[in-house]
Amino acid sequence: MKINVTQSSLPTFEEYCTEIKSIWENHWLTNNGEKVCELEAKLKKYKEVNNIVLYTNGHLALEATISAFQFPIGSEIITTPFTFVSTSNAIVRTGMVPVFCDIEPDNLTLDPKKIEALITSKTVAILPVHVYGNMCDVEEIERIAKKHNLKVIYDSAHAFGVKFKGKNSATFGDISMFSFHATKVFNTIEGGCLAFNDIKYSQILRDMKNFGIRDEEHCLYTGGNAKMNEFQAAMGLCNLRHIDSFISHRKAVCDRYKSHLSKCANLTIPALREGVEGNYSYFPVLFSDKTKRDEIKEILARHDYGSRKYFYPLVSEFDCYKDIKPHDTPIAKMTSERVLCLPLYPDLPLSEVDAICKIILEYV
Ligand SMILES: *Cc1c(COP(=O)(O)O)cnc(C)c1O
Repeated sequence: MKINVTQSSLPTFEEYCTEIKSIWENHWLTNNGEKVCELEAKLKKYKEVNNIVLYTNGHLALEATISAFQFPIGSEIITTPFTFVSTSNAIVRTGMVPVFCDIEPDNLTLDPKKIEALITSKTVAILPVHVYGNMCDVEEIERIAKKHNLKVIYDSAHAFGVKFKGKNSATFGDISMFSFHATKVFNTIEGGCLAFNDIKYSQILRDMKNFGIRDEEHCLYTGGNAKMNEFQAAMGLCNLRHIDSFISHRKAVCDRYKSHLSKCANLTIPALREGVEGNYSYFPVLFSDKTKRDEIKEILARHDYGSRKYFYPLVSEFDCYKDIKPHDTPIAKMTSERVLCLPLYPDLPLSEVDAICKIILEYV
């Protein structure tokens, strides 16, 4: 491919080398090093939350969160099937049962109107996803969770820097997980964090990424290993300096796509929820049906342009979920068959966006 669907954001080679130099002075590579502490402090400010715990990736951070609540094995967690498979894998791998709930047709996030019908005596939490950096109906979800005494864990993997009514995405729910994977808006090569306001989660979430060890003589939980190392944190410190520029370049690319495609009657560009300030993490387009979507993907590939059927198929349709009780999620199903994410990254030349749109408009 001449143009991939995404490209990782990097600082200059010199900037990264300067950042990692002190690692050779300290000989400290991991286990809560200087860089990790500095990045946690900077992210706390950026995300406007009281607590940040860095992890080696977003997925393990999500697993640690679910484990930390110590729900009885076999408890049910309500989530969306329109997501990356990590979300529900984290539920299953921690001994919980995912209950798939449909999404809203406009926002593509968990539909609060359909949550309550799925609540049983075994339900312990709701795990919604801020899909494509759009935000869930956080107010309704909070109301339902309070009423039924459920925890809310947000998969915020897509929502770095996103705000709702002026408040950072990290400030909603009990705990929010962010992914800093190479393909995300903000990356630490691989990486992720947990963001939360309530200090009571802090110690267990720190223990959980280090085998459950509290101190030299005490191991309190059967935790795994999910610590971020100093080279990852150094990449994060560099990339955080450029985050505003990454997001504004992404916005310019999205605006260019919209200038070509928004008047086209044969496709839909999902809009952000009112009050959401986005981060332009993905550019999804909904075509009229699956055949059209699949053909467009192929035509783009023939012109050397990557694109991604993200998310298709639904998580609930994967083989490894065949034993999970199916629920009817027609909006999620229809969306997954029509959606295609177009190339988007800060340095994508606008002339390439013009060329991609020309191909799409000629076809539809
Ligand atoms: C990327 C992603 C994850 C997993 O994060 P990693 O850092 O790659 O482990 C989880 N959920 C969603 C929705 C994602 O996009």
